[in-house]
Amino acid sequence: MATAVLPAAAALPGPAAPAPPHPPPGRASLRHMPQLHAALLKSGELTASPKSFHSLLEAAAASPAQLSYALRMFRLGPRPPLSAPSYNILMRGLIRAGHAEDALHLFVEMLGTASVCPDQHTLACTLKSCSRMRGLDVGRGIQVYAVKRGFMVDRFVLSSLIHMYASCGDVAAARVLFDAVEEKGVVMWNAIIAGYFKDGDWKEVVEMFKVMLEVGAPFDEVTLVSIATACGRIGDAELGDWIGGYVEEKGMVGNRNLVTALVDMYAKCGELGKARRLFNGMRSRDVVAWSAMISGYTQAGQCQEALALFNEMQVAEVEPNDVTMVSVLSACAILGALETGRWVHSYIRRKRLPLTVVLSTALVDFYAKCGCIDSAVEAFESMPMKNTWTWTALIKGMASNGRGREALELFSSMREANIKPTYVTFIGVLMACSHSCLVEEGRQHFDSMTREYGIQPRVEHYGCIVDLLGRAGLIDEAYQFIRSMPIEPNTVIWRALLSSCTVHKNVETGEEALKHIISLDPSHSGDYILLSNIYASLGRWKDAAMIRRAMNDRGIEKTPGCSLIEVDGTVFEFFAEDSDHPQLKEIYEKVKEMIDKIKMAGYVPNTADARLDVDECEKELSVSRHSEKLAIAFGLMKLHPGATIRLSKNLRVCSDCHSATKLISKVYSREIVVRDRNRFHHFKDGSCSCNDYW
Ligand code: ZN
Ligand code: ZN
Repeated sequence: MATAVLPAAAALPGPAAPAPPHPPPGRASLRHMPQLHAALLKSGELTASPKSFHSLLEAAAASPAQLSYALRMFRLGPRPPLSAPSYNILMRGLIRAGHAEDALHLFVEMLGTASVCPDQHTLACTLKSCSRMRGLDVGRGIQVYAVKRGFMVDRFVLSSLIHMYASCGDVAAARVLFDAVEEKGVVMWNAIIAGYFKDGDWKEVVEMFKVMLEVGAPFDEVTLVSIATACGRIGDAELGDWIGGYVEEKGMVGNRNLVTALVDMYAKCGELGKARRLFNGMRSRDVVAWSAMISGYTQAGQCQEALALFNEMQVAEVEPNDVTMVSVLSACAILGALETGRWVHSYIRRKRLPLTVVLSTALVDFYAKCGCIDSAVEAFESMPMKNTWTWTALIKGMASNGRGREALELFSSMREANIKPTYVTFIGVLMACSHSCLVEEGRQHFDSMTREYGIQPRVEHYGCIVDLLGRAGLIDEAYQFIRSMPIEPNTVIWRALLSSCTVHKNVETGEEALKHIISLDPSHSGDYILLSNIYASLGRWKDAAMIRRAMNDRGIEKTPGCSLIEVDGTVFEFFAEDSDHPQLKEIYEKVKEMIDKIKMAGYVPNTADARLDVDECEKELSVSRHSEKLAIAFGLMKLHPGATIRLSKNLRVCSDCHSATKLISKVYSREIVVRDRNRFHHFKDGSCSCNDYW
């Protein structure tokens, strides 16, 4: 009888019970409710039989549209004397229609009615109202009532209490009750797991499931969705894989929520192949599944795949949400795909997607990483909410785009706004100082980081200072600074010193720096090339050749240079001396034209960066086919006149490409923005924003 009054779903945690199976309980009978009501009244059955009254009340209360009809029946009668089941029916109707507070009022009214006594289902409904309203205090009061009335032995009441505490954020209280119950059903397990889940305590969620497996507790699809999600968050691929196997074995792959959770789990654990296989096999995919897959690609750095999948998503006419957009924007930021990202921005505006802090920060970061600082500032200023990550994104963006002074001004505004900087913010601040050669400011900020904010400098901060001193030509001081570091200097630190030595042609310290780098990481071709360039720039060709030979002897191959350029929303990839681009002939012709034009403007090829095993003429040809020159030529061919050419390069720009690009920007009156491994170069009218220091 009990289950007939209170459907089991009413005691389940989480969202409302699933929609009734169609056709909804007698659509016809709802329309004919007044007739049915009248007939029952006429026959006298309604007042004589509480059972008939309850059935009619239940039918009306089941549909939010008929709820007021149910209320009138309940309040005005005629009807049999009211009892707990009548109250329970109405309370459930109210909760289902989103009026948890009214359900609670009904309970209070019941307490004041001497003739009616709340039963265990009343308490379950009341606790459910508390869960919905996050009414922890009222819920605690209900527990006191339940203890007094001896309801604490009832499983319905216990489950509802555990669920109430868990969903109101007091998972510890839920756990105390939970542990005291001897035989726990799946509903109770799900309730306590949902509590940890809500707290973001992924480890405990996974631990609970391990206990469940140990004691042989029953679990269902709701449990598995939570556990799979938690596995993704903590990267527990082993347990996640076990769930994946279980789901396939038990033929549960038709459950969309479950499979979506698995796709998300595999994607977060970096198992993109498995994620994609499941994703492809899904009969229908909602925005959550698409977002999980796209963000998996972005996080794994497979940004082209992320954008391709985003295109497929649009073809499938699934509307993206803010979570999708964050992933797509970070993919665009990494690729430097400005057009696509801009389209995303306008889409966000058009669809009025909520500008969450995370989404707005992604926008700022995207524009900054594409070298569009003005758009980044605009996005920043139009944000309804900003947190420390937003400020940091813009500070770092300004710094790497060579706008050090502005970055520092922004940092003082951030402090005035009482936003606490993090260690990442200070990386941005110190980068700003070093990229703009502000030695004194850099030293001061470095000191204030520990003194004012109690942030211990990390190796990245030391790296910025070495870079700062080195750029300013204070090579000896930089070297002494490294020697006095309280933590072991890593390759990044020595590399910063080595590149300063390249610029200031300091052979001795350069040799020393390379020695340290090789002892830590001997496989990085760029390091050998930097030292070889120092020798070459001093005309010490023999030494240069020796370094290159040492590199070959160790089997270290030069990382091929690769430049990306976006044209009409498609990202094109160029490698040095590229030989399989379909338009290669035209591109090489354009390169030749480019080189001839800038030679007339005074360009002299610098072959220090070329291969050493070929003669001078071939060296010249080889540097002219560096990937960025190919990409720039392609941009000149394909982009409409006057459009800024933007590309991103995987290595640092070589000095020949740098001086060539400066002249190209002048001869062709084009702005060219190049993002290399470390920073941005904005070329315009024959000069670069980095002031030839990079
Ligand atoms: Zn180059
Ligand atoms: Zn530059």
